[in-house]
Order: sequence, then C-alpha cells, then structure tokens
Amino acid sequence: MPKIIQLSQHVANLIAAGEVVERPASVVKELLENAVDAGASQVTVEIRDGGMTFLRVTDNGCGMSSEDARTAFLRHATSKLRTAEDLAAIATMGFRGEALAAIASVSRIDLLTKTPGAVSGTSLALEGGTVTEESEAGCPDGTTIIVRDLFYNTPARMKFMKSDSVEGSRVAAAVQLQALAHPEVAYRFLRDGKEVLSTPGTGKLEETVYCIYGRDSARWIRVESRWEQYSLHGYICKPTDARPSRAMQTFFVGGRPVKSRLLMAALEEAYRNQIMVGKFPSCVLHLDLPAELVDVNVHPAKTEVKFLNEKAVFDCVHYGVLGALNKVADRPQVQFKSAPYAPPAAPAVAPKKQENFFRTMTAQEFKHFSAAIADAPQPSPLAAAATVAAVERERVLPLKETVSFPTVTVREPVAQPLPEEPEQQTFAMPEQTPWRLVGELYNCYILVEQGEDAYLIDKHAAHERILFDKLKANQEQISAQALLKPAVCRLSPEGAAILLSNLPLLEELGFEIEEFGDSRVLIRQVPMEFNEEEAADALEALAADLLNGRRESRETVRDELLHTVACKAAIKAGWHSDEKELYVLASQVMSREELKHCPHGRPICITLSKKQLEKQFKR
Ligand code: ADP
Ligand code: MG
Repeated sequence: MPKIIQLSQHVANLIAAGEVVERPASVVKELLENAVDAGASQVTVEIRDGGMTFLRVTDNGCGMSSEDARTAFLRHATSKLRTAEDLAAIATMGFRGEALAAIASVSRIDLLTKTPGAVSGTSLALEGGTVTEESEAGCPDGTTIIVRDLFYNTPARMKFMKSDSVEGSRVAAAVQLQALAHPEVAYRFLRDGKEVLSTPGTGKLEETVYCIYGRDSARWIRVESRWEQYSLHGYICKPTDARPSRAMQTFFVGGRPVKSRLLMAALEEAYRNQIMVGKFPSCVLHLDLPAELVDVNVHPAKTEVKFLNEKAVFDCVHYGVLGALNKVADRPQVQFKSAPYAPPAAPAVAPKKQENFFRTMTAQEFKHFSAAIADAPQPSPLAAAATVAAVERERVLPLKETVSFPTVTVREPVAQPLPEEPEQQTFAMPEQTPWRLVGELYNCYILVEQGEDAYLIDKHAAHERILFDKLKANQEQISAQALLKPAVCRLSPEGAAILLSNLPLLEELGFEIEEFGDSRVLIRQVPMEFNEEEAADALEALAADLLNGRRESRETVRDELLHTVACKAAIKAGWHSDEKELYVLASQVMSREELKHCPHGRPICITLSKKQLEKQFKR
C-alpha cells in the first residue's frame, strides 16, 4: 500500500475546480453570484471566443480591501459564513469559499477592486492560483475580474469544451438565468464586442422576462400565490404554448437557480390533462421560503436543493400554477381528425368538474410520477409527433375509467372471421398456435384470442414499429421538402448554437437551417411529412438531445427521426380501420415474438390470460 499523503493546496484546488468550474458558463455563474452577494446593482459580462480566452465580469458592489482580495483566492475563504450554524440559514448565493480558488487554479486572473470608502483600489494578477503581481490602483468602486485562458494548465479539461459558439451560448444562458434570478440587478452581456443582452434592473420580473424571451412572453400567465410559509411568483406558459422539451423550465429557490425533480413534477401535474403527451410547460418560477426549510449545500455548484417538507413545496407549486391556469379562460379544446366511432359527447380533456381538477397527488402517485420523470428519456421528436395519437387515445378511453377490467363490447361484423381472409392464411408459421381476430376496442386495440390467452394490440404502436423496422432495414434516405416560405424557429441560445454547429448532421436528417440571430434559426427545408410546427418541435428536441450529449452518434439521431417518420405514417388510434387492416397488423404481431413481448418503451401488445379472467369472475 503506498503511503498516504495530504494533497497539496494546488492539487486540491484542481480537484475542486473539476466540480465547480466545468466550462466558461460555470465561471460566469460563480462570478455573477459573487457580484450579487456584493450588493451590486449593475453587472457587465464580456466574453471573447466563447469565454475560453477572455471573460470579464464588472460589478459596482462592495469591493474588497487589498487584504481581502488576496484571501479571497484561498480555498475555503469566504466572508459569508463564520460558524456551522450559519450554514443552516444561508442568505447569500455563495458560501463555500471555493469558487475563486477553483477558477484561479485553472486560469490567469486579473482582479481590480475597490471598496467605496477607500482612496485607491487593489490590482492583483494570478496565474494558476499563485499571485504574480500586486499593486495599488486607481479604479471605480466595485470589482472587475478578468479570467483569461481558461484551462490552459489542464488540457484534459480543455478537450471537453465544445466550439466557441456553443460555449459562448452557454455563457449567454447563464447570464439570462442570473438576470431572471435577480430582476433588481441590471445586467449587460457583450459577446465579442456586441451587446446581446441588457436588462433594466427595475426589480420587475416581467421586464427581465421580456428582455429575454421577447414578444412571446406577452402571452405568459402570471403566477402569484402563498402557501403556508412558501410563496411562489413568476410566469408560466399557456397550455397551448407547451414546448417539446423542458429546456424552458426555470426554477429559482431563494433566488438561486435550481434543478429539482419535485418542482418539475408539481408544475407538470398542474398541467395534467391540459397539454399533449410529449409536450412540456415552460416557466420562470421563484419559490421563496424560510432558509431553514431548505438545504442548498447538497451539490458543489449548488444547483440542487433538498426541501425539509417536500409535500408542502409540491402543493405550493402545484396549487399556485393550477390557480393561475384556471384563471385564464382558454383551455385547449382538443380537435379530432376523424371520429367515426367517437363515444357519446363527454369531453374527456377539458375538465369541467373543479373538484376533480383541484386535487393533489397522493404520495404514491407522486412517487410514480417522479420515478417516471427520472426514467423517462428526454423528450424526443417522436414524443412530440405521437401526441395527437395519444390525445385521441385519451379521448377514446374516458379518463376517469381506469378500471382494471374494461367492459368489452365487440361489434358484430368484426367478431366473425372474414370470409375473404381465410383463416389458414394466418398459419404461415406452422408451429404457431392458431389465433383468432376477435375484434377491435375503442378503435384502438385489436383483440386476439390464442389458446388460453387473449391479446390486446395497440394498433398505432404496432404499425409504427413495423414501419420503423422497415425503414431502418432499408437504410433509406430520409426525403426532404423545401418550405415555400422559410419558417423562423426560436430556441434557447445554446440550442440554436448547437444546431448551427451540426449542420451536416441536420442535412442528413432532411433539415436545412440557417442562423437568424437572437437565438433563432431559419428553417428552409424539413423532412417529408413534417409541417413547419412539427419541424420546429423536432429541432428543439434534437437540440436538447445534442446538448445533453446523448445524441452524438448519427445512428441514434437517425433512429429518432425514423421513429418520427414511422409514427406519422402509422395509422392512428381512434381512426377507423377496416378488418383487413386489423388482420394484417394482428398477424404481424402474432408472428413476431419481439413485437408481442416487446420489452422496450410503450407496450405494443398486452396479454390477458383466461386464468386472470376467471379470477376476476371468481370462478
Ligand atoms: P463564496 O462566494 O462562496 O464566499 P468565493 O470563492 O466565490 O466564495 O469568493 C470568496 C470571497 O471573495 C467572498 O466570500 C467575498 O467576500 C469575496 N468576493 C468575491 N467576489 C467578490 C465581488 N465581486 N465583490 C466583493 N467581494 C467579492
Ligand atoms: Mg462565490
């Protein structure tokens, strides 16, 4: 066993830097938090080359004395925390005293700072965490930090950086996030000499929201509510404006941007039944609560929080959002393409009964819900496109009827085997037990009997899968169509940047896009079968996937797109299928084990055994 030694300060800082300083955007986040903690009312961020070579944050806050300026770069040096008890009630953004030490250890830094009372300020230069120069300097009140050549001494980290434009856009997103967190601070952001964001700092959240989201934000719904010791305020989108990804869900807890599955679940639960499957609400929501009810010290970048009372937090967000949604009149009325067998009018989607609408999830439901969110793959173009079918399915199956055993009514003509489709045709596989097409339920599920088992086949899912397999096997070119009038699509800054840096890939998938400025792209060409809106949704979902680094492989992206094409081309639930169609689908599924017992994703086919039925009937 090698001898144990204590790591040097420099190595320890490098390790910490790995946790706190991932990329230019994380540096900016930390510096902006420091500016807010210093009481600044005006903050300017400037970057060059995506922030990799040059990044400057200037604030008009309280500044530092020359002694403090030196100490600030030491590990665990903070002015915000004195005792362990302080940790239980943190009112500042920072407190770990790690950020400056970590940033300094992987870059070259120039610091200029002056406290309001002082005659002169301090200028400090550091390289790899070591002070190389210190002098008195004339400068305005406040602090300026310049970070140059980030990761110059950690080439391994450097390799993980994306293009300058993607890194720069992540910085833009980080500035936006801070601006939304602190409407009382005026932010300016300059990228390669050009001003790309400027917020007024009036303290009015809607003004900052407008600066960031533009005119679209005029349609947002205001949320303002209190629940016990919790208060919630901010903006949410209309159900009809839901997006194909969660990229536009922004939550703040005590002014701190956080990622929280609980908040996400509470938000989405409030929209339940109001938006289509595969779409997600956007929001800018601030949750404020007494400091002792939340632990922010669970992650080095402090993006995760732990709530003391999860149920209360859930209810606060859920009811707050629900209340705001209920105030706006235009609930979506779902349109159905064709409904020859639509059940007697009983709108399943727009809930009329308030008591049904105003309810909280049970703990059990919440567990399921959050587990589902955790496991769920990020939204895909497929999900976006499958929504119509999903809504139709919901409509066909009344929502309240979640009984485990549906009342089966088989229509006469279908119950009989078809005269023109002789039974022996299904015996192509000699070893297969004979099966019989019994009929169709709700224009959605094909009912098949085979020996001691009955099968319910989701006709849309089955058809989609069969088409997908065909497309994939042929390795067909995805055909594309030019739009008569190019469409503008608004994305997040990073979303737009990552799409624009993957043009060849997009082309392969049938998209042709161009930069349009201000986080927007111009769509000129889309895959066949896509309309403008679907193409925009697919692009947003694709951008989210590329940013998550999950779709680096072309094969996977292509598969996703093929899924979408297959989904669109497949027959829909709720559509009327003639018996022949049902028959062909059933025989495909019955003869292919991988379809019958598909282990992935949404099931294609479920089994109902005779035994199960007998049990139900207590025979
Ligand atoms: P933390 O924010 O967790 O305390 P940092 O490493 O980010 O740790 O900063 C260390 C200390 O440096 C802070 O506690 C604060 O006293 C001081 N400091 C950092 N940035 C500024 C700033 N922009 N203005 C004034 N003081 C600052
Ligand atoms: Mg800090």
